[in-house]
Amino acid sequence: MEHTIKTNKQDEMINITDIVREDVRNSNIKDGIVIVFVPHTTAGITINENADPDVVYDILNSLQKVFPKDKNHRHMEGNSHAHIKASLMGLSCYIIIENGILKLGTWQGVYFCEFDGPRTRKFYTKIIG
Ligand code: ZN
Repeated sequence: MEHTIKTNKQDEMINITDIVREDVRNSNIKDGIVIVFVPHTTAGITINENADPDVVYDILNSLQKVFPKDKNHRHMEGNSHAHIKASLMGLSCYIIIENGILKLGTWQGVYFCEFDGPRTRKFYTKIIG
């Protein structure tokens, strides 16, 4: 499934767990794997804490400190910091489906990570039974 997502900030993590869950439900596949993939070079995917929003804040804040906008970067577009953060997070994740349910930990959520927003973005889910 292809999904469009609108990001609102330059750096942002958006919880997309419910969208992934819905795709799994609609697939009627009870046992398998769902892959979530981002077709961008300055956005990523990660699984992390879904309860305390301060965790997301701390992740983004820490990444900004370690990889700030750097005038010495060679990439002409000026967004190498975003490319680096996207590669660090990774562009995909996979989750086990068992009895039609995502085998996520209680505190885990799937996050679309924007590093060069705001933009209109895409992500794909692929469910393999
Ligand atoms: Zn670039």
